[in-house]
Amino acid sequence: MIEKIIENLERTNCAKDDVFIQAVNEVFRSLEPILNNDNRYEMYAILERLITPDRIIRFKVQWLDDNNKVRINNGYRIQFNNALGPYKGGLRFHSSVNSGILKFLAFEQIFKNSLTGLPIGGAKGGSDFDPKGKSDFEIMKFCHAFMRGLYPYIGARVDVPAGDIGVGTREIGYLFGEYKRMTHTYDGVLSGKPYAFGGSLMRPEATGYGVVYFASEMLKEEYGETLQGKTCCVSGAGNVALHTIEKLQHLGANVVTCSDSDGTIYDPNGIDLGLLKALKGDGRRLSLENYSTQRYGSIYTKKENYPFDAHAVWSYSCYAAFPCATQNELTFNDAHSLIGYGVRAVVEGANMPTTPEAITLFHSNNILFAPGKASNAGGVAVSEFEMSQNASMEKWEFEKVDRKLNEIMCQIYKRVALTAREYGRERNFVDGANIAAFKRLSEAMMLEGV
Ligand code: NDP
Repeated sequence: MIEKIIENLERTNCAKDDVFIQAVNEVFRSLEPILNNDNRYEMYAILERLITPDRIIRFKVQWLDDNNKVRINNGYRIQFNNALGPYKGGLRFHSSVNSGILKFLAFEQIFKNSLTGLPIGGAKGGSDFDPKGKSDFEIMKFCHAFMRGLYPYIGARVDVPAGDIGVGTREIGYLFGEYKRMTHTYDGVLSGKPYAFGGSLMRPEATGYGVVYFASEMLKEEYGETLQGKTCCVSGAGNVALHTIEKLQHLGANVVTCSDSDGTIYDPNGIDLGLLKALKGDGRRLSLENYSTQRYGSIYTKKENYPFDAHAVWSYSCYAAFPCATQNELTFNDAHSLIGYGVRAVVEGANMPTTPEAITLFHSNNILFAPGKASNAGGVAVSEFEMSQNASMEKWEFEKVDRKLNEIMCQIYKRVALTAREYGRERNFVDGANIAAFKRLSEAMMLEGV
């Protein structure tokens, strides 16, 4: 059954859909042990329905740059599945964005959201707009124009977008401002909002902190170990990476790397987070090369000086690795290098940063591997907390959000580990996550009928 569905998907989708097909393949391979147990999956065509988005919305975004030149970008929102609740998932502004990448992200999102146990469906959106080098006013004008295309399709009980690559608190603020102007409503239509107008405390930190809470629970349960005093490699230097580094440092780990699209920093004395935030925090995108000129003993490796299909950030000795930048950034060669350097655990902060070949290599070497749809679900969980706070007009304290985030990450770990064990895939958290998420999702899809 799986082969036929994937063959059909490959035949009917275009070249841009490579990453989407990669994600579907990974999920479907995991489901083999469960599909034969229940003929309702076939009867209700659950797999076919799961890989078909409810709606793909595409719109034109036209705006004026600082020289009053007309600029045009594509805007998208992919509402993939709302069996469990309103559509929920981030917006990505990056030059690489196309419908294939967003389909992959929205598909992953429905599984991630299911794993949280919260009432949220899955979606993703964004634009091929490149924020790099744009002034604050240009970002604002673009966000306003983007929202003018998007607002008819979203709502607090319909679809609640959040941030992703290139979209942080500043962008969400501009998007929310325009939404209010267009609709004359003030509700929780976006999450990740500035605190001043309904944002939740800890939303900016949530994904990165959640990644580390997941890692800590996994290491405690599987190895009886903590992150205290351990050397860790992190990739990326954006929202997820910065907060992953921050929480790792709170727990006493020594983080020695970070990276961006142009290069990698290795700092054996431990990343200076204050310096890194000055270069990359709050949407700043200064080159990491500045880090090495200001920090004695650190080394900067330019991306172009590194061989194709391998990344400098994974070429150092570490106990745990945290890929937190983008999809397919940790390849087979990188996995080989990390294993050679003695890595014990790999915990994904980004969405699908590890290639299938690299995951197989980690599994065959008994390296603990946590897939992003489980380990980075803290961001969407706190987004849902923000929706709850908006709906009840409450404001939760930082400590309450932090405690609930920690609880939810530990529950996700347990759900994933127990499911893996139940289906004879002990310590295979990819299969555990996919099966656990699928069970909740497919049950809801059967209950609502066709
Ligand atoms: P940001 O835009 O804040 O940061 C992204 C970082 O990744 C930047 O340092 C960027 O460098 C780097 N990067 C982007 N593309 C590449 C590339 N091709 N090669 C190397 N580095 C690259 O995004 P986030 O931190 O929010 O998101 C990072 C990942 O985490 C994404 O996969 C996202 O989907 C995922 N995620 C994010 C959540 C959130 O709450 N924000 C929630 C769950 C998952 P540069 O600036 O040079 O491009």
